Amino acid sequence: MQLVTRANWGARPPRYALTYVASTKGVKIHYEGTYVPKSLAATAAHSTCAGRMRDLQASHLNHPTENYSDIAYSAVVCPHGTVYEGRGAHRLTGANGTAALNRDDYAVCAMLGASGLVVPPPAMLDGIVDAIMWLRNTGSAGDRVRGHRDGHPTACPGDRLYAWVQDGAQRPDGTGPQGGTGTEVPAAGGVARYQVTINGLTYGYGADGAHVTAVGEALVNRGFGKFYKVGPGPRWTDADTRAYQAFQLSLGYTGTAPGEDADGVPGEVSLHQLLGRLPGRKKPSTVPPFPGRSAFVLGRTNPAVVTLDNGLIRAGYTRYHDGDGYQAGSRFTEHTRRNVAAFQRATPALAGDADGYPGPLTWRLLLS
Ligand SMILES: [Zn+2]
Ligand SMILES: [Zn+2]
Repeated sequence: MQLVTRANWGARPPRYALTYVASTKGVKIHYEGTYVPKSLAATAAHSTCAGRMRDLQASHLNHPTENYSDIAYSAVVCPHGTVYEGRGAHRLTGANGTAALNRDDYAVCAMLGASGLVVPPPAMLDGIVDAIMWLRNTGSAGDRVRGHRDGHPTACPGDRLYAWVQDGAQRPDGTGPQGGTGTEVPAAGGVARYQVTINGLTYGYGADGAHVTAVGEALVNRGFGKFYKVGPGPRWTDADTRAYQAFQLSLGYTGTAPGEDADGVPGEVSLHQLLGRLPGRKKPSTVPPFPGRSAFVLGRTNPAVVTLDNGLIRAGYTRYHDGDGYQAGSRFTEHTRRNVAAFQRATPALAGDADGYPGPLTWRLLLS
């Protein structure tokens, strides 16, 4: 792929900050639509393509009605197959017709005309597929490829390019993007990369632990192993998300965009179905025996204070400390006493005697 960044084609900065988009459903294909000289397709004319980009950006910045902040397209492809960065990945495009259409898809424009150069050269088709793959890989574009005219009244991207889109937007040699891995997960609007906590354990992109390996292995056993190049392993990757999504789809869940039911991030019900049980952190089966009131004397140390402190930290009663955060230690300090008192005041059974010195009931309620 030949990619020319904004800096390298001499882009002007956007007039105001471009809007961030996490992912899109896919990419829409456009053409310039005016007159593009056939001579632009000559090999020697490639030296003029960067200048054409600057002209295109200028025409958008000076547009009489649209108030564009920048060139409207995510990327532009010249007849020689070079991809020019437009607004780029993770930036809202301005080219698809309406605010909703702009949120749904990135926009890739071919330097192709409504007259003059109207037949896309093979190198240009290769370049458009490069741009699509670039937006998938760096901008979480989903699998679909459509024309500007899909869902919007326009002739764009012209009959020749639109026919190519409808035939699957393949490279001249008949490969990708739709013959590639993208079709394995239907219409994903990018891969979900958030985490959930179920029964005290974390799942989703970046989660770590033996429970993640267990989920991956269960998915492989169920026949969803094709998503893994390596692993499964203890760190949750996009491969885990894709495999889990395929499992959710097999359960009849719908909606593959991040946040929807089949986005590849586990929920309690599907996880239980996959594993046959719901793993979780084991609670201590018994509360340690109360060490006696003599363990808690201001300024004195006792191993039981560490246990007490850990209970306070787990329960979130750590407001009082000497400026460095509340940490477990064996000394019963005034900070310890005040944190215990805060727990007692917040607990109805203890609130009547919130002196900050643990008795058997405070001990049991705090540590159970
Ligand atoms: Zn268009
Ligand atoms: Zn060129």
